[in-house]
Amino acid sequence: MTARPLPGAPAAEALLAETAARAARLPNPPHLVMVRLGEDPASVSYVRGKDRKAREVGLSSTVHALPETTSQAELLDLIARLNADDAVNGILVQLPLPAHVSEQAVLHAIDPRKDVDGFHPLNVGELWAGRPALRPCTPAGILYLLDHYGLAIAGQRAVVVGRSHIVGRPLAALLLERDATVTIAHSRTRDLGAVTREADLLLVAVGRAHLITPEMVKPGATVIDVGINRVPGEGGGKAHLTGDVHPDVAEVAGALTPVPGGVGPMTIAQLLANTASAAEMQASRLLSR
Ligand code: NDP
Repeated sequence: MTARPLPGAPAAEALLAETAARAARLPNPPHLVMVRLGEDPASVSYVRGKDRKAREVGLSSTVHALPETTSQAELLDLIARLNADDAVNGILVQLPLPAHVSEQAVLHAIDPRKDVDGFHPLNVGELWAGRPALRPCTPAGILYLLDHYGLAIAGQRAVVVGRSHIVGRPLAALLLERDATVTIAHSRTRDLGAVTREADLLLVAVGRAHLITPEMVKPGATVIDVGINRVPGEGGGKAHLTGDVHPDVAEVAGALTPVPGGVGPMTIAQLLANTASAAEMQASRLLSR
């Protein structure tokens, strides 16, 4: 058996098209403001990609590229101004931040209604309480991808490997909200293979190349590979990206996301969808003022 591939691009395109239509219905284009500190190449490239896609779907986007030496107080001051500005709908501070800035202080400072990354503790709490809120982009994008390909969630035995605040935990909360029976595995899980073999739906967000091998997967399972690992090419060749799931898992699984080109494209698409949601919520609030 060879697993059905689940490429992210068609699902991301569908989500981007929905977002463009929602943006066009609003009185003003939803406005996303991104802030980054320093010139970390990955952060520069992520923010550039988000900025470009935002414009493509008819959102307005502003990037504040601040020096690495920006103090926490200066950053908090900027966030306060963005919070107070009705023309700003979504605020994203690109992580990681330099060591002298507290990530927690920054994430707490963003108005939860503009928190398009879904990392503010209020939004985290709403998510676990099963109430509407802005949801973290990668997990919400994964659910969109599953729905796009018509893969069942309700009643499924889901195993999430990884318990980070960005991916594993919110992903587990979203699956629970959609009536999956959810297990969260992590680095202290005993006999990981015995746990993952139980999964109808196996979602892996660890950051270890090829951690999940074919014998750890239930035949016919749907496998979502969130991992992005840069590995050196054979014989000193060019480095390439690979997932947390071994490619041979395709011989056992029923469906499998590729890396790259699986979950990756969903994250940006979901960020823009969140920006549209934030703008819609704010527009209805302004109307009822
Ligand atoms: P973190 O490093 O924050 O978390 C990794 C998690 O994996 C931890 O919970 C850790 O457990 C667990 N873990 C580590 N080793 C093992 C092991 N041997 N067995 C079981 N669990 C283990 O990573 P992130 O969640 O931020 O990211 C995970 C991966 O997803 C990375 O490769 C990242 O690049 C990728 N990613 C991809 C995105 C996309 O858009 N496609 C977006 C975000 C991330 P413990 O808590 O016990 O330490």
